[in-house]
Amino acid sequence: MQLYDSIIKDTLEMLSALPARSYPYSEAGAWRDTGESELVMQRDAAYELGGDGKPAVNFSCVTSDTGFVDKDEIIVLGKDLREIKTSVPFARIAVIQIEDISVEEGDTEPLFRAIQDIDFVKYHVYPEGYMVRTSSENNREQVRISKKALAAGIDFYKIGCDYIAHYKQDPNIKAVKLFFVTDPAADYAKLAGHSKKVHEITLTLSKILEGMPTDCGSCKLKPVCDEVEGMRELHFGKNKAEFKG
Ligand code: SF4
Repeated sequence: MQLYDSIIKDTLEMLSALPARSYPYSEAGAWRDTGESELVMQRDAAYELGGDGKPAVNFSCVTSDTGFVDKDEIIVLGKDLREIKTSVPFARIAVIQIEDISVEEGDTEPLFRAIQDIDFVKYHVYPEGYMVRTSSENNREQVRISKKALAAGIDFYKIGCDYIAHYKQDPNIKAVKLFFVTDPAADYAKLAGHSKKVHEITLTLSKILEGMPTDCGSCKLKPVCDEVEGMRELHFGKNKAEFKG
C-alpha cells in the first residue's frame, strides 16, 4: 500500500531539516483523557495552537512500507506547550505503519474502511484541557490550551502518548510516528498542500467504492490518479487492460 508514500517521503524530508526533540511512546505517559469533548472557555484558555488565523495543519498518512516508521515515537519541532505564551502556527502529523491490506479484484472497501477508521481515531481523543477544533472543509486542527492544564504540566509528549494509545487500539496499526510542529520555520503552506492531497486520495478511494466509471479519460478524479502511484492498480486490480488512461 503505497498511496501516501510520496507525501510521507516529502514530509519526513522537510521535517528532518528542523531541530527536533524525540520521545519514545509509553502508555503510562499519556495525559488524562476525559473520554468526551470538553469546552475550554476563552477566559480559561492560555492560548491557541493555530489561533489568530495562524496555520493549523493536520493529516494522517498510512503506509505498509516498514522504512518510514520503526517505532512508536513522539517528535516535537519547535516550542513545547509550556514554552509557548501566545498563538503559534501548528501542525500535527501522524505517519502510521499498518498491516498490508490486500485489494482483490479492485475491491477497495477493506482498505478504505481501514483508512477511514484510522482517520476517525482523532475524533475520539479528548486530552483534558486540550480542546481540539477541527474543520473538515479546510482540514484545520486548532487547539485551545487551558491555563489549568498548563499549570498541571501538560506537554506534547503526554498528548502524543494519549493519541498513540488510541491509535494502538486499532489492530491494523503496527507503529506510529507523531509530529507536533510549532517551529515558525516549518513550511506550513506545503504541509497544508499535503493535507489537501491526503484528503483527495482518501476521497478518490471512496468514489471508487461507490462505483466510478472505468474510463480514466472522462473521470473527474484523473488528476489525482495521474499523480498518485498505485491508484489505478487499486481501481482495476491486475486487469489493467480494462482502463483507458
Ligand atoms: S483509476 Fe481512472 S477511472 Fe478510476 S478513479 Fe482514477 S481516473 Fe477515475
